[in-house]
Amino acid sequence: MKYIFGNWKMNNTSVEVKDFIKSFKPPKEDAVFGIAVPFPYIKEMQKKLGKKAQIGAQNVSFAESGAYTGEISAKMLADCGASFCLVGHSERRQIFGETNEWCREKVKALQSRNIMPVLCIGETLQENEQKKTKSVLKSQLKIGLSKADFSKKIIIAYEPVWAIGTGKTPTKKEVDQTISYIKEYINKEFKQNLKVLYGGSVKASNAKELLSGDIVDGALIGGASLKVNEFLEIAKSAKEKI
Ligand code: PEP
Repeated sequence: MKYIFGNWKMNNTSVEVKDFIKSFKPPKEDAVFGIAVPFPYIKEMQKKLGKKAQIGAQNVSFAESGAYTGEISAKMLADCGASFCLVGHSERRQIFGETNEWCREKVKALQSRNIMPVLCIGETLQENEQKKTKSVLKSQLKIGLSKADFSKKIIIAYEPVWAIGTGKTPTKKEVDQTISYIKEYINKEFKQNLKVLYGGSVKASNAKELLSGDIVDGALIGGASLKVNEFLEIAKSAKEKI
């Protein structure tokens, strides 16, 4: 079964949250669902949809507590019922200057509260064009996972930055090749087999092809996860063989 995880980013208010809850009726066998929602909606989403989907956050502080105005700790996320949290999404890295070292500390903080990190990695367009994809991914993984506790669950999301919100995607062959590389690297460096999702402009119309086969374990979906029917459609088509 594929992992179909959504990332609402900074979208939706309580009206849309209520509508989403009302219409989210996935057949159990379609996918393992996860939805990363804005902080204020975690508790309600968890209460109402927690049996149908894992409810998570999009960011966490690296610190445990204290004078960090505006930050939210892993302990607080656990308190609200978050079961997973994105780490190092490219928007956090690019807009807020999040580094691999911060990601490493965030992974550690989340795992200490039994919240599953979803570590997001990916190259920019320039890095892709300069053929630096592998070296960028390697350092994001090497540092980001260096304090990970592999006795607890952790997932990787490969999201080429140039594919996020642009409507562009790598070819299926490129997705499979890059995710195979990520899996091989993690296996070599950390002796682990981790699930790796693909993210970047996944929609109902391309999910079947992008997620087909055994290499890609699922998808992290931004824009298309805001529309409940499209999100459920992605899960359904990801299940079908091509
Ligand atoms: C994302 O936000 O992680 C993402 C993949 O966005 P989109 O699906 O809109 O490209």
